[in-house]
Amino acid sequence: MVRSDDEDYSSAKQIFNTQFDEEQPVAVVQVANADDVAAAVAFAAANDLRIAARSGGHSYAGVSSATGVMIIDLRNLNNITYADGQVTVEPGLVLYDVYQALDPYEQTLPTGMCPSVGIAGLTLGGGLGFESRRYGMTCDRLIGANLVLPNGTKVEVSETSHPDLLWGLRGGGHFLGIVTSFTYKTCPATPKDLVRLTFPGDRAADGIRGWQQWVTKAPREQWADFSVDCDGNGSLDCWTQLVCAPGTGAAAAAEFTAAVGMLPLSVEIRALSHMETILALAGGSATQPRASFTNGSDVVTTLNDEVIGVIIASLTKFSQAGNTGWVQINTLDGAVRDTHLDAAAFPWRNHAALVEWGAYEPIPPDVARAWVVDSHEMIKSASAGGYVNYLEPGDPMQRYFGDNYTRLDTIRSIVDPTYRVYSALDG
Ligand SMILES: Cc1cc2nc3c(=O)[nH]c(=O)nc-3n(C[C@H](O)[C@H](O)[C@H](O)COP(=O)(O)OP(=O)(O)OC[C@H]3O[C@@H](n4cnc5c(N)ncnc54)[C@H](O)[C@@H]3O)c2cc1C
Repeated sequence: MVRSDDEDYSSAKQIFNTQFDEEQPVAVVQVANADDVAAAVAFAAANDLRIAARSGGHSYAGVSSATGVMIIDLRNLNNITYADGQVTVEPGLVLYDVYQALDPYEQTLPTGMCPSVGIAGLTLGGGLGFESRRYGMTCDRLIGANLVLPNGTKVEVSETSHPDLLWGLRGGGHFLGIVTSFTYKTCPATPKDLVRLTFPGDRAADGIRGWQQWVTKAPREQWADFSVDCDGNGSLDCWTQLVCAPGTGAAAAAEFTAAVGMLPLSVEIRALSHMETILALAGGSATQPRASFTNGSDVVTTLNDEVIGVIIASLTKFSQAGNTGWVQINTLDGAVRDTHLDAAAFPWRNHAALVEWGAYEPIPPDVARAWVVDSHEMIKSASAGGYVNYLEPGDPMQRYFGDNYTRLDTIRSIVDPTYRVYSALDG
């Protein structure tokens, strides 16, 4: 256990976002196995301490290093085993570790885009990325887990053992205890064509509109997001990254271009292996330097001209004020919709898109947060809530779980009546 007067306290409590470097957890408990986790949780219960798990350390709200909380650091739990289309993963692994371990079997999981994100936190909040249209959210592939409940009891979770907890772990799992292993159904890892198209920033609204039209027609094997960046000089840049089957990049680029109705400023098409695709989408490296950033999200029920206008207006205002920042728009269609709305805690399966607002250093956190809050206000008539993996502190829990909130809250109140697990949300 590392405490505040220990030499390695600063490094032990450090997470990815440097904004949380001043947080003061009561201790960081570095565990080696599930029994250690159970003992640590029982100790916290006996001493009335709140707890939070630390896996990949990419929490947007700094939950995994929060002041006053006992952090259970799972980074030493890093086994992974694959057999017959199933993989069991311990929470210390990051996405890149999982991709690498599965690659020799030509298998993968649909996860997220940043390879240093923890598989644990990502799965427990949902997990959205470039294979989601084809294979669903990461949490949709979860078929079992080992969980230490907030009272220190170890339970096996599956469709037949504590099925309510499995439902909760699929997208609402940050609040139900500490997961010590996850079992997933895998899917094939295949080479890809990766297409990057840039468009004139002053036509960003046409770009978003065209992206949406393209998404409604594109086969599930194809995926693209759409990004609009503010340059800090009052203008915008916009671009898409599109992933599709080998040899189909040129045709997909042409279809995307026809949908947006304007010629791209630049076109780049690369034929890549599965692992090369992972690295390319991550910007070329499996690791990323720590940074200060502020993000937020809105799940929009519709992406009509009015909503698109709001996104552009918000970004333009931020850019005109001298700031850099971005919006990334992701689709929630395809295989994400194959899981019934109430079959897992992740609730956003009937919605037009996920809009993420973000600003990195050097933009001061208070300036970025004010912009995100302002953007929420501007878009609120179309917003159904937010994505819990892009957690914003102080929000009501309902904002992240829509119609699944009541069931999740009931499960939570049974397993954690005293809110032992810290959440950064209410309660
Ligand atoms: C640069 C960056 C890129 C990202 N890209 C994507 C993306 O493409 N797609 C996407 O869906 N998300 C993405 N995310 C969001 C990411 O999924 C969440 O931040 C996720 O919760 C991080 O998990 P972690 O294990 O790394 O973080 P941690 O900070 O360790 O944990 C995050 C939350 O999960 C809880 N937790 C962690 N481990 C466990 C456990 N074993 N048992 C119970 N609770 C646990 C923590 O207590 C905390 O509340 C990105 C985040 C960043 C910073």
